[in-house]
Amino acid sequence: MFASLEGRSVIVTGASKGIGRGIALGFGRARCRVWVVSRHLPQAAQVAGEIVAAGGTAQAFAADVTRQADMHAMAAAARDAFGTIDILCANAGIFPASPLASMTEADFDLVVGTNLKGTFLAVSACLPAMQARKRGRIILTSSITGPVTGYTGWSHYGASKAGQLGFMRTAAIELAPHGITVNAVLPGNIATEGLAGLGDDYIRSMEASVPMRRLGSVDDVANAALFFASDEAAYITGQSLVIDGGQILPESLAAMAPS
Ligand code: NAP
Repeated sequence: MFASLEGRSVIVTGASKGIGRGIALGFGRARCRVWVVSRHLPQAAQVAGEIVAAGGTAQAFAADVTRQADMHAMAAAARDAFGTIDILCANAGIFPASPLASMTEADFDLVVGTNLKGTFLAVSACLPAMQARKRGRIILTSSITGPVTGYTGWSHYGASKAGQLGFMRTAAIELAPHGITVNAVLPGNIATEGLAGLGDDYIRSMEASVPMRRLGSVDDVANAALFFASDEAAYITGQSLVIDGGQILPESLAAMAPS
């Protein structure tokens, strides 16, 4: 039985849709106070409204994770409203495809700047509040792509997602004496608005390559984030949890043929 997270204050970046929305709704159901962050206030406000309509507490905030000033404003506003920041889910991310041969410096900078530098900026902005209370949970949304697998068109994305894990390991060591854990969820292919943008052929080929023969749901990822945020996970830090329906297990499609 897990202890209740009721009343904990949570910031979720990239929470206007997809996995971040699922994480925000999950923490809302757990009766946490949720700070719903994305660049577009109306979309973030819609998610905050869903949490409030279900009886929870939430507030929307417009911020870009690539801007340090935005991240500081986000942390300050959450601290003013909720008094503390107990949990940060650094989830905002983008995955535009770009083959290496035609990838521009701007393509690379945009993806790494959002996914990796954005993680650093969100984490560092929230640290003072967590260090002041000698307590905190930081949960990064990485991916199987990069840390475990590769995929044509996503060398910059894979670098950013593997980079998050390198960042996590040293951050976990530095922050352990402050009572702060840093862990990562590694989703496989999760049904989100962003993934839908990759097209039906991509979705079908992914479903076929997952032993469970379905894409993951945002709740599958939210449940893992809730676990890392739980009191029961207090002694776990610097670790990553793959949520992929077994996708990284088969050596080939033949490995999944019925026996
Ligand atoms: P999504 O549906 O496209 O949602 C992305 C979210 O990030 C939106 O809320 C978007 O809101 C926000 N965002 C993007 N750039 C931002 C920025 N610069 N500042 C603040 N917010 C920003 O994507 P998703 O599929 O849920 O992916 C979410 C995370 O999961 C990403 O880190 C992604 O790499 C990771 N992931 C996804 C999958 C998957 O299968 N879906 C698999 C592995 C990992 P605004 O546009 O309003 O800012």
